Amino acid sequence: MGYNVAIDGPAGAGKSTIAKLVAKEKGYIYVDTGAMYRALAIHFLKKGIAPENTEDVIDACRDADVSIRYEDGAQQVYLNGENVTGILRTEEAGNMASKTSGIPEVREKLLELQRTLAKENDVIMDGRDIGTNILPGADVKIYLTASVETRAKRRYDELKEKGEDCDLEQIAQDIKERDERDMNRETAPLKKAEDAILVDSSHMSIPEVVSEICSHCR
Ligand code: C5P
Repeated sequence: MGYNVAIDGPAGAGKSTIAKLVAKEKGYIYVDTGAMYRALAIHFLKKGIAPENTEDVIDACRDADVSIRYEDGAQQVYLNGENVTGILRTEEAGNMASKTSGIPEVREKLLELQRTLAKENDVIMDGRDIGTNILPGADVKIYLTASVETRAKRRYDELKEKGEDCDLEQIAQDIKERDERDMNRETAPLKKAEDAILVDSSHMSIPEVVSEICSHCR
């Protein structure tokens, strides 16, 4: 069994930035589970499936193979043998992932992959239900959050840096809708595990958050 750190929280809370840095400092593997949902979302988008069309989404899961490899320590996500890592972090893929991740068959599809990675490696795994559902026995659980305004601004800066055309108001709206869906779905909703440590990063710098989380880890 690997040493497992679970880090959950809403969209744009900085989970991936922080988890990558903690992974580097502690020598863990960083597992980005949102990227797995995004890879499935790309599959649905490629097939032209509407997220409301649950039967088609479930059907499409059957011919989707999502796998993870590590190249120079960075997670690479493969969809049916193709490396899709570079196209995962668009708003389109994020919205599709958010709209389809409440479907139990979609979650089921990724569950084993996530648990196997945690069993075989020392990991810091980020997502929505890692501490509550995927790794309930994790050694350390963190619930990382920040205000909607802070999260929208961070996502905006991230997209701008990549040269994507984006609108701050629209991103804030998307984030609110995503929170709403993630927190209120029936299957594995986003919530703080009872034994998770709450970290609100709204007024914290990246090094401060990293150091706070590292202080709880082996
Ligand atoms: O974290 P990220 O924005 O990449 O996740 C995209 C979407 O995937 C989220 O909005 C959420 O609906 C879903 N997700 C999930 N469970 C996880 C990780 C992501 O439901 N463990």
